[in-house]
Order: sequence, then C-alpha cells, then structure tokens
Amino acid sequence: MAVALVAGAALQLQQSALWPLTHYLVAALVALGVLLLPYALGRIGWVPRFHAMAALAAHILPLCLCALLGFAWTGGRAAWFDDNRLEPALEGRDVQVIGVVRQMTHNSPMGLRFRLEVESAALDGQAVRLPPRMDLGWYRGMAPRSAPADLSDWELHRQPQAMVPGERWRMTVRVKAPHGSFNFQGFDYELWLWEQGVQATGYVRAGARDAPPQRLQATLDYPVERWRQGLRERIFTAVPEPGQAALIAALVVGDQSALDQQQWALFRATGVAHLVSISGLHITMFAWAARWLIGWLWRRSQRLCLWWPAPSAAWAGGLLVACAYAVFSGWGIPAQRTCIMLAWVTLLRLAGARWPWPYVWILALLLVVVYDPWSLLQAGFWLSFVAVAVLFATDGHPPAQGGSAMASAGRAALGRRSDTSPAAPDPRDDLFTRDARALATPGPMARAYAWFRTLGQAMRGMVREQATITLALAPLSIALFGQLSVVGLLANLLAVPWVTLVITPLALAGVLIEPVWLLAAAACGGWLTLVQSMAAWPLAVLAFALPPWWLALPAGLGALVLAMPLPWALRCMGLPLLLALGVWHPPAPPPGQFELIAADVGQGNAILVRTRKHVLLYDAGPRYSLDSDAGQRVLVPLLQASVTRLDRLMLSHRDTDHVGGAASVLALQPQAEVLSSLEAGHLLLQGRTSTRCQVGQSWDWDGVRFSVLHPAPEAYSAQSTPKPNTLSCVLRVQAGAYAEAPESADVQAGMREAQQQRSALLVGDIEQAQEAQLLARAAASPSAAALSADFLLVPHHGSKTSSTSQFLAAVHPQTAVVQAGYRNRYGHPAPLVVQRYADLAQSYAPGTTLQWVDTPHCGAFLWQSWQPANSQCARKVLQRYWHHRVP
Ligand SMILES: [Zn+2]
Repeated sequence: MAVALVAGAALQLQQSALWPLTHYLVAALVALGVLLLPYALGRIGWVPRFHAMAALAAHILPLCLCALLGFAWTGGRAAWFDDNRLEPALEGRDVQVIGVVRQMTHNSPMGLRFRLEVESAALDGQAVRLPPRMDLGWYRGMAPRSAPADLSDWELHRQPQAMVPGERWRMTVRVKAPHGSFNFQGFDYELWLWEQGVQATGYVRAGARDAPPQRLQATLDYPVERWRQGLRERIFTAVPEPGQAALIAALVVGDQSALDQQQWALFRATGVAHLVSISGLHITMFAWAARWLIGWLWRRSQRLCLWWPAPSAAWAGGLLVACAYAVFSGWGIPAQRTCIMLAWVTLLRLAGARWPWPYVWILALLLVVVYDPWSLLQAGFWLSFVAVAVLFATDGHPPAQGGSAMASAGRAALGRRSDTSPAAPDPRDDLFTRDARALATPGPMARAYAWFRTLGQAMRGMVREQATITLALAPLSIALFGQLSVVGLLANLLAVPWVTLVITPLALAGVLIEPVWLLAAAACGGWLTLVQSMAAWPLAVLAFALPPWWLALPAGLGALVLAMPLPWALRCMGLPLLLALGVWHPPAPPPGQFELIAADVGQGNAILVRTRKHVLLYDAGPRYSLDSDAGQRVLVPLLQASVTRLDRLMLSHRDTDHVGGAASVLALQPQAEVLSSLEAGHLLLQGRTSTRCQVGQSWDWDGVRFSVLHPAPEAYSAQSTPKPNTLSCVLRVQAGAYAEAPESADVQAGMREAQQQRSALLVGDIEQAQEAQLLARAAASPSAAALSADFLLVPHHGSKTSSTSQFLAAVHPQTAVVQAGYRNRYGHPAPLVVQRYADLAQSYAPGTTLQWVDTPHCGAFLWQSWQPANSQCARKVLQRYWHHRVP
C-alpha cells in the first residue's frame, strides 16, 4: 500500500496541467471512503461474502485506492499552492512591496540576492495580490554604454545595502513569473523554485527616479537565518583564504554560493559533492558518525549507561545532533526529508520494533513523499535513499542494529565481533559486557592492541561499506549525471571520515572558539589539495550517454543485486544489466542527414549541429554572471548527455551573447577547432589554432555540406573597426544524397527525403546591410537557390535591424527560430519582425507553411533534416504543471 501511495504521487507528477482543487478533494474523499468502508461495515457487524473474482478485486482495489489517494494528495497540494501564482498582468510592472527578508542573503559583485516574504503589495496605490514568497535581486546597476547622459543615472543608482533576515523592508520591485532555461535534459529551475515555494522572481528598482528602498524595522522573525548570516561573516573574517572559508561556510551554515564553479566541478569529478552540499547523504553520514561518537562516549560512564542503554542514547543523540545540524545548515528541502527519514528510523529503534528493513525503508520513503512529493524528481532524494537502502541491505541486520560500520565498530569496541547474529541482542547485554570488561581491565599494551584491532575492523567495515555504496550508486550516477567518478571510491574513503569526523566538527567547534576555524581551514586546505591531485588522474571521470529510463531502471536493480550479500553466482547476474549502460549510445542521424538542437540559453545563440559522425556547435550562448555562463549551465550538459566529442566550434562574432559560454565549452572540449570572426589576439583564441571564417570556405561531413557565406575577406581588413554584428559568420548546412549503401529501411526512407536536400541557415546577428550582401552574392552565384533554407535562425534574435522582406523571400524558410530571452530588455523579437514573418507565410504556396518558433515559448528546439515535420519543443514535450506557461 505504501508503494501504491508513492506510485500514485509519482503518477501525479506526470500531469502537464493541474485539475481544479475540488477534483482532487473529491478523488481523495472517494479513495478514503472506499478504503475505510470494510472497517465501517465490520463495526456494524455486516461482513460481506465475496466470490473468487470479487476476492481478487478486494486485493487489488485497495492498492488502486491508495494510488488514487497519493495522486489526489499531491495534486491537491499542488492546486492549493498554484492558486497563489503571479498574475500575468503584474509582470513587468513596478509594484510597491512591504515584506520581511526570510533567508540569509547572497552577495556577489553583481549585487545582492535575497528571498522576501511578502506582507502587502500595491500597484499605483491599489492593493494587489503577489505570491507570498519571491526571490529578488538588488543589482549594482549597469555600466553606461556610451552616452554621458547615462552616467548620472549610473551614479545615482542606489547601491545594495546590507540586509539581515527578519528585517521588514519597503521597496519597489519589478517581478516576473519563474522562468528558466528549458532544455531536453539538465537542471529544472522552475521545479526547484516550486519546491522552495517561490512563485515570482524579480529585482529591486533602485534607479534615480524610483522611491528608495527603505528599511522599516527589525522583527524577531527568522532568528536562525540571522544567526547563520552573522556566522558566515565571522567565518570569512576569521579565515584568510577565501576558498577554505567558502568550504567551511558551506559545511557550517550550508551556504554553497561562495564556492565557485571550479570547486564544484572538482567535487563532482571526485564524487564528493554530496559532502559539501549538505545533502541528505551528508546528513545521514553525519548522523551515523554522531551516533557512533555518542555511543562511544556514553559507554565511558557507568551511571549514564544504567540510566539509559547506550545504543538507545546513541540513536536518539545521533538524531538530535543531525537535526540540529540540518537546521543550522539552512534547513533546506534535502535536510528536511533526511530528518524525517532519520526520525522515523530512530523512533522504530527506540520503540523496539524489529521490522525487516525494506518495510522501514519504504515507509520512510512514503513519509518523505507525503511531506514533499516533488522530491521524487530530485537526484539527491534517490542518492540518499539508495545509499541508505544499501547500508541496510548489505549489513544483513535490521536497521535497529545500526547497520553501519561505524555502529559495528562501536560494538566491536566492546569486544564483540561486528558481524553479530541477526537476532537482536538485549540492549542491556552491551552494558553487562562492558562491566565484565571493566572488571577484567587489561594492561595498557593489550588495550592498545584491542584499540588498533577495533580501528582495523572499523576501517575494513568502512571500506566495504563505501565500496558497496559506490557500486550501487554507480548506475544512478550514470542515469542522473551521465558520469561516473572512478576515483570516487578512493576519494570517498578518505573524504567521508575526514570531512564528517574532522573538518565538520572542527568547523562547528569554531562557532564557539573562533581560532579553531584556522585549524579547520588547515584541514580543508590539505584535503582540497589531495582532491585536486586526484581529479587530475587519468580516467578520473568516465562519461556516459544519459540512458533512457527503461535502461536505467534495470541497471539500478542490477547494481543492487551486485551489492547484496548473496552468493557470487547470483550477484554476477546483475552485471550484464549494469554493462548495458556502458554501451548504450543515443541514435545518430542517418548518413547524409543532420540534426539541429537550438538550445535554450536565454538571450543568445547556441545551436548544436550533428551529422552521423561529426558535431559542430554554432555559438556558445551568453554569460550570465561572473562565474556562470551558458557553456557550463546548458551546453556542456547537452554535449555530455550524448557523450559528444565536439569537432568544431563556430563563433559567429565577439558579442558576449554568442561567445559567453565558449570558454567553458573549450575547457572541456579542448580538441574542438575554432572557426570564428574573432580578431587574432582574442582571449578565447590564445593557445589554440583557429581559423577566421570567410565566404567560400566549405567542407563535407558524412554527406552533409557546410558552407560559409559571410563575411567577405575584405571585411576584416577594413580601415575602421567594424561593428561586431557585421562580421557575423553565416553558415549554411545542407543535407545531401549519400553514396554509401543504406543500412535499413528507415535510412532508405530518409534518403528519399534527402532528395529534397533540406538545408539550414545560421546567420548570427547580421543586419540589413549584410543581408543585402548575401542577396547580392546569391544572385551572382550559379545555383538558383543559393540562399534558400528550410530552417532559418532568425537574424539578430528578431531585432528590427534585420530580417528584411527581400532576404526572407530569398531564404523562404519553413521553420524560423528566434533565440531570445524571456522578457529580455531589448524587446526581441520585435513585433514588427514577427509580423513580417507572418506576412511572408501568407505569400507561401498552398501546402507550405512557416513554423515560427521562439525560445520563451518553446524552450530548446529539435529539428531533423530527414523528418522536419517531427520537430520538438522541449517545453511542449516535457511540460509539467509547475512549468511556466508563457502567455
Ligand atoms: Zn546577439
């Protein structure tokens, strides 16, 4: 029944749109009513007799009802919450807000980010309803471009002031609905905000003409957050080295924003990110460590042991310490669900329940899912639950036994072997054994020997435990992240005890005695150096293609079988399931054909062109902030998802919305050749060979022709520095008839299609003058349709500087794609230009249409030259109810 409830909740997460709240309520009532009916009937003394079929139904029906209940519970909560969403009419308006800062704030060179609990809001003096929780930015202001008139504006821009959680502020904010980059795989920002209860994002209006933000008063709300913020400041003043301070702050107050992208990449590569991000896994490990330590200390005192058995005290203490730590570290969603799980397991233990571990585990899972159904979609949720299941399953004990090497070590310290019989001993046994030992106190040598033996046992247990966890989590890591850290096992062997038993306690002790932070910093420093050297080992990380679920699920089972304490003959049966992951590869385009993925990178261009064996990336998207860009956020995951080796990176021109992510892409794909209009000394080209794109260049990949149509060589030698847009490299990609024998009927069909030689035109930010040049060159060329294309990347993000009617008529596109940000400040695509495309479509012959695609509505866009009618929008294919519906 618990499994059915969870399955029902999981099913609801597949809904693309919510029903009204009443529907869920009715469903829940029906499910509950029918479930409780037999009990009600039993009470009035009426026991119905069932036929065989009815008896079968009586077994299946409760499961269906449980699933319905899980579905209705999740849906009802979602509908209730969704009722507070932002009115589209309020987007982009200046709203006066009074609210309380509810979380530790985050400072960066760009400005201040904070979360506000809205108390009241008004638009032009009229009260309006805003979502109760919003994420806001208070930016330092944009540097003026050129006009000196802007300078006064810049100077008058009110710089962010220090904000403390619990303060009530009045400010003018401009809000919008949560809207993130939406790609076929990768981080779901909108889900993340939904789970945090945030239903609007925006920024503080702090220009010269806006009413200044005003601190009204300090309230007593959110004391823990205030404390955390104060602590973080103390850590950064006490520890001189910022990298180490950031790590300590991440461990003590759970502030991960200070860690930079390189550090994160390093932690992920070595498989220790879970230790730094205060994930469920980390808190579980911390609880285990705390329990072991408390149990060990408790046993030192006979009086305490007489008062309460050491194992019980250890369990309760471990839970308390872990929960206190979870609160301290920000009480994030992963921390909350971990505490629920730990509390449940501890409760069972203290109540003396001896349940088989799968019962404990699935009920803990159910509790967490009831509390937060959306956690079913989080990688961290599965990582921590699978890790715990492995600890339970491999130990062979019920969880009440401790189930961990650390707990076993505690028992071993009492002279008992760690692999005690599964039968539960009386907790008092420990006490008596201890007393008996205390009576026959051995000499110091014997004691030292016993201590070392205990340590050895603990170490062996830990190695075994880490090995099984790493093995069991391997398919999960491949399925979720497309990578497997080979050094992860070793790194975790060192990192888990070092971070949980040394660095974290030292960092926490520093809260009381500040100089201890220097000690913690030293411990961090050594560890960071070691992790760095490990990440540099050859084959430290293996990359895999992201497998589909029907491959990932059996592989997960395979890993579990492999990790279970079963005979080896049985265990080995899990291996082939696991190996299937390693050999899986996403299907490539047929010969002579190509595939385009217009990634959703916000305001900027990035298009992945894939032929059968080659891959080209046209532009690399924008830079978002000092340490984040489209490269590492979107494009690297996109390339990794299919284990793609990039052959060529084409950068149309030097504007930051086109090259912003290039450094991140090149860092991970150093073999990629660069073809661009960038000048020779450009930072991106240093230390690598690169070619300048110019008209006339062309090459064939797997029967697909690539030709550069712009710029002309003389554009580079112009006297004055040309505007970057005018130098945009224009690329035409054309499917061709392929000579090799077709491999299958599918390919044959594809070849027949290819007779039409579909093509794509990628034009960067060209403007009217360059469009005219392209037209002139096409007119002079022998081929009649030198410029025509089925797929057109709309020039300059749909700006009114481009897309002239003559150019559009010559290209005659069937699909026009705009890559622009949601509510971008340039107003791209311009309504005038959108209308121009609509007019163009009117002129088309019957039977031909013009498909208009823009990033805000579509997210990432997939187009395949052999089946252009089957193009896909990520937002349409993967639409769920928490995603933003762009009006
Ligand atoms: Zn641009």
